[in-house]
Amino acid sequence: MSAPLLTSLAEPGGDRPDALTVGGRACSREELLGAAGAVAARIAGAPVVAVRASPTAETVTAVVGALLAGVPVVPVPPDSGPAERDHILRDSKAALLLTGSLTGSPTEEEAGPVETVPVDLAERAAWSGPEPDPESTAFVLYTSGTTGAPKGALISRGAVAADLDALAGAWAWTAEDTLVHGLPLFHVHGLVLGVLGALRVGSRLVHTGRPTPAAYAAAGGSLYFGVPTVWHRVVQDPDAARALSGARLLVSGSAPLPAPVFRDLEQLTGHRPVERYGMTETLITISTRADGERRPGYVGTPLSGIRTRVAAEEGAEIGELQLTGPTLFDGYLNRPEATAGSYTEDGWFRTGDIAAVEPDGFHRIVGRASTDLIKSGGYRIGAGEVENALLDHPAVREAAVVGAPHEDLGQQIVAYVVADGVSEAELIDYVAGQLSVHKRPRKVRFLEALPRNAMGKPQKKLLPPA
Ligand code: ATP
Ligand code: MG
Repeated sequence: MSAPLLTSLAEPGGDRPDALTVGGRACSREELLGAAGAVAARIAGAPVVAVRASPTAETVTAVVGALLAGVPVVPVPPDSGPAERDHILRDSKAALLLTGSLTGSPTEEEAGPVETVPVDLAERAAWSGPEPDPESTAFVLYTSGTTGAPKGALISRGAVAADLDALAGAWAWTAEDTLVHGLPLFHVHGLVLGVLGALRVGSRLVHTGRPTPAAYAAAGGSLYFGVPTVWHRVVQDPDAARALSGARLLVSGSAPLPAPVFRDLEQLTGHRPVERYGMTETLITISTRADGERRPGYVGTPLSGIRTRVAAEEGAEIGELQLTGPTLFDGYLNRPEATAGSYTEDGWFRTGDIAAVEPDGFHRIVGRASTDLIKSGGYRIGAGEVENALLDHPAVREAAVVGAPHEDLGQQIVAYVVADGVSEAELIDYVAGQLSVHKRPRKVRFLEALPRNAMGKPQKKLLPPA
């Protein structure tokens, strides 16, 4: 029988008072287990339960309680608008919503037809139910909705365990570590890796509430998780960045880490960041390693148990990244067609991302097939390459590149930048000086900020028209 999902909860040393600190509230593993046991007793037997996933100890308690009871968890973003929340509650058919005094109770109108169940950190109950089947669903995790409406991915306990064990190996993550992050608790990175990872491995966890440079600097961790936006803010605060030099490993993922941010991090902290690639549907599948090389622009090699292939057209180096392995989801809830469409005929998962693999096995993610592969004048151009060239310019703080319809070229390259003191013509020349001439943008539009979601992913569909 495989180890229980949250191995460390049952291990000795559970009375350490600051094993988990979430949003300023510290607790021991014993306290967490007791409060989560009370949650489990209240919801046992429910088909599915939603959790208002605010960055609080109550959210962690609610999730652990549901996992103890074997009830699938649907995390609901706490600040989602009514449309997103209704979509998630209705689609998942969750009849119960766990909330606490810290998470904030929803108003009657917000709660709608769901019954709210309070989470109380002071409550204690011993839970003695059996460890649920590894094939049962741990989470219904909604995708970020970058390319369409968020889809509910069914994630099994076995997939979570396999992913966490592979990551612990790749990152040499042990009970000696203190993990620090402030990522949202409703996506893979913040919740599955950032909370369950600590509970499986047995490391301390400090969740800073929000992922600010000052909070990261003050937390004194050994292992730090962040998305590129977080690392971008860290390097703009050199004092905070330098405070991370005592850490062991800085991890970036969920979106491309611009090469200039990689280099600034190395310069200020002395650490080359580890990059990881994954999706809600597959969990984390590719990463650089604690004991291996790290290269700007590359996400590394497949994790243990994962196989990848690039479906490139004849003669092309880049193509769709496809995967198999034990961390894959069990399909989208209520979407049999989308589920079937996400697999090739021979059973590989289609990521919808474009990638290239170097002879040494290092993977480079070019971007999404739907938005980041620009077909212009017979050329195929990865938006990320042009974005990196723009970000190399000292005046450019953010960049997003898209293909806009063009009569003659099919698509033309349009760049959206956040920059001061530089003109459109200068930026076009700057890119043309670095890349092949057909990769230069035809137009540059200046914005105050790029549209991004809670994980810092650029939302290209929300950019103004070219
Ligand atoms: P939706 O599927 O609803 O359109 P989404 O794909 O943004 O939204 P997620 O599952 O949260 O939802 O994100 C997975 C995607 O994030 C990947 O397919 C990839 O495009 C991107 N991604 C993740 N990690 C990296 C990385 N290290 N480098 C580049 N892109 C990444
Ligand atoms: Mg996706």
